[in-house]
This record gives sequence, structure tokens and C-alpha cells, in this order.
Amino acid sequence: MGTHHSVSGAAAWVAITSTAPYTLGIDPLPISSVVIGAFVTAGASLLPDVDHHNGTIAHSGGLLTRGVAAVAGAASGGHRHGMHSILAIAGFTAGTILAGRWQATVPLLGEIPAGSALIFLALVAFATKAMKLGRGGALKLWVGSALIVTAVLVLAPEQLEWLPLSVMVGVIVHLVGDMITTGGVPLTWPWIPKPPKSWSASPFLDVIWKKNGYVALPILGNTGSIREWCLFAVLSAYTAYGLAATTGLIAVAA
Ligand SMILES: [Zn+2]
Repeated sequence: MGTHHSVSGAAAWVAITSTAPYTLGIDPLPISSVVIGAFVTAGASLLPDVDHHNGTIAHSGGLLTRGVAAVAGAASGGHRHGMHSILAIAGFTAGTILAGRWQATVPLLGEIPAGSALIFLALVAFATKAMKLGRGGALKLWVGSALIVTAVLVLAPEQLEWLPLSVMVGVIVHLVGDMITTGGVPLTWPWIPKPPKSWSASPFLDVIWKKNGYVALPILGNTGSIREWCLFAVLSAYTAYGLAATTGLIAVAA
């Protein structure tokens, strides 16, 4: 589910850039990067499901994003295939780093990191859609997201520096999220070794390394289970608490 993936991504970002550094006595990221990054990582954690014709990304921008989803699905073998692998983690992260090298001159703003800005734009739009924060159609969603990106480019362009980390965290969190449901993921795609018959005959082992070669640790059971909703509630509460504590909305004993 898109919303569950995006909340997991935001929670992971808060944990990695704020809670863990404070706990370990290391300098956390600046408050603005924790907050903006949580939102952007929420968007990044939807990326593997770009292979789904009926997913949040496919539905976020009319014909264009539906076309992107169709191409991504076809190129990677369908939903929960290539986009749900270690190769995908590397690909999305490397792609973001490479895109970060593209600078372009635009009216009013001058020279901007155009590649990073476009990825940032897409991730903000995906997160807004998944968290159901925006009302109205695709045009409103993307114009609103473009305003946010423009504000970041003008006020705090250094925010784009952590973008590859955000994408990597988001994609990993997505794969973990899918792995803890019964479907599992083909982590080693395109090479998906299948277990020997004796392995599949065992009811427990069969759940972890499945007949089709997918791997899972299905502590949540099926997608949409009560356990999944409970985890979602806990992660939502943690993210809200973490952001409130980071921004000083609530005081936390040092
Ligand atoms: Zn998925």
C-alpha cells in the first residue's frame, strides 16, 4: 500500500538523520533537512512500485505517469520483479547521483541543479499523493509540488545534497516492507535461484525462500493484514513524535 510505504520511508529518515545521531552523540542533520527529507523519502519509498500500472506513481500524473509505469513494468518484467531487487537500489541511487550532475540555466532562478530538482519535484508529488495531502487533480498536484521545489531552490538549495541518500533509504525501506509480507521480493533479480525440492517440502522454509525464488520474512502476514495496520500506526506515531521533537514543538529530556 502506497501510504504505508511512504510512512515507513519518513520514519526511517527521521530515525537515521535525527533519532540515531542524537542517541549516538553524533551531529544530526539540520532540522530543515530532517523535516523536508522525511517528506521526500516518503516519496522515494514509492519508487519500486513505479512498475505497478495501478500504483500511486502511475496515478499521480495522468497519461504521462501511466506511460512511465507501463514502460517501467515492461522493462523490469512486471510488478515486483526487477524494481524490487538489490540492483534497483543501486540503479535508483546511481541514477539520482548522475542526475545531480546536470545543471541548467532557467529564467529568474539562473543556474540550478536541474536533474536533482526534477527528482525532488517528482518525489514531493508522489508523497503528497500517497499521503492524500492534496485535493484536486494532477495539474494542482504538480503545480503545488513545483512551488515547493522552487522555494527550496531559492531559500535552501543545499537541501538537494542529501537527495541520493533519501532515494536509497526510501527504496530499501520499500523492499523491506514488501519482504515482510508473504509475497516476498526477487532480491537477486535478474538471477532468481529457486530452492531445491526438499527445501520447498518444508512448510517453514518454503515461506522464507519461496518456490518461485522470491525471498520473504513474512512477519506481517498478507498485505493489508491487521499486523500491517498496527505497524503503520506505530510508525506514524513515531514519525510525528520524531518530527515534533526535532523541530522543538515538544520538549524532550536531554
Ligand atoms: Zn512494492
